[in-house]
Amino acid sequence: MKVAQRTERDPILDWPLADAYMRFALLALEEVAGEHGVQVILRQAGLAHLIGNYPPNRMEFHGLTYADYANLHRATIEFYGRAARAFGLRIGRLAARRSIEEQSALFGVAVKALRLMPLSMQLKTILTNMANGLTQLLRQGGYTTTIEIAEQDDAFILTWPHCPNCAGLVADRPICWIIEGGILEATHFATGGKEFAVHQIACRATGAPACSWQVSKTPTGG
Ligand SMILES: [Zn+2]
Repeated sequence: MKVAQRTERDPILDWPLADAYMRFALLALEEVAGEHGVQVILRQAGLAHLIGNYPPNRMEFHGLTYADYANLHRATIEFYGRAARAFGLRIGRLAARRSIEEQSALFGVAVKALRLMPLSMQLKTILTNMANGLTQLLRQGGYTTTIEIAEQDDAFILTWPHCPNCAGLVADRPICWIIEGGILEATHFATGGKEFAVHQIACRATGAPACSWQVSKTPTGG
């Protein structure tokens, strides 16, 4: 798995990243890679100052940027090599679970109401809440983003032109597995434990104008 920096600077590298997002990513990474693994990855990412010094759990901006997150992501991909996708999915799921548990108010998740909805509406609601949460958060930081959710007969398509995972990066295939894992976990939560196939169908790292994920409306079992 080869990931490189873009030759021209990607303007979204300067976008702000909430402390809690970096914290959830680092705690998930620590669970997967171990304490020593995280230290290696953080040094490789040029983020040694975060070793033993994770940002606090607050949905606020205090100087972290998309560039920090993309550097962490790139170092994680290099650390895991061929297994990067599997580990990225796990990291995304663990980070999303923590985010849902600790920040559910932000996403406006009314669990009881969610449980009473038909399946397709549960999926649409959780995807919309995720999108609104991110959009509102970035607006607080002074940045305008849109996450489009298109509905097809058998799937939802999420499209985000300002994905932090691949900011400033170039790859020969989609690499934003952390978000893929996040969607897997969010849909699992929203539907009381069902699993849905999620595929990244476009990635800025491969030259697309936005990252897109396809979320099947049909559970794979479980
Ligand atoms: Zn991306």
